[in-house]
Amino acid sequence: MNCIFCKIISEAIPSDKVYEDERMIIIKDINPQTKIHLLMIPKSHYSNIVEMTEAQAVELGLCLKTIGEISNSLGLKEGFRLVSNKGTNGCQSVEHLHFHIMGGELLSERMG
Ligand code: 5GP
Ligand code: ZN
Repeated sequence: MNCIFCKIISEAIPSDKVYEDERMIIIKDINPQTKIHLLMIPKSHYSNIVEMTEAQAVELGLCLKTIGEISNSLGLKEGFRLVSNKGTNGCQSVEHLHFHIMGGELLSERMG
């Protein structure tokens, strides 16, 4: 499949990986927009939550729980923001569901 995140998951393309388990990887975003800018990418390929199956939704819930559990070790003790862009208006550029994990500094209150 011609998906850059699937290639990163299979290590066909290198990445700066900070966490991996059977369900997901967390990598450093190649173009960070905040002091800490990570991407949580479920290993299952689907574009966004509109196309997500029930099984994938359960997996995603567990992925989010894991982010919570390891957030301190990622340097996010003071807080963080999760963002998942969808479609044209959401400015989604990679069609494999992912969550931006942003922090390491006080973020803007403005999100749009
Ligand atoms: P989106 O715009 O789809 O919400 O987010 C895609 C994100 O993936 C962008 O922040 C972009 O910088 C990041 N990205 C795109 N290609 C690569 C890559 O090859 N490696 C890494 N680490 N991040 C990437
Ligand atoms: Zn993919």
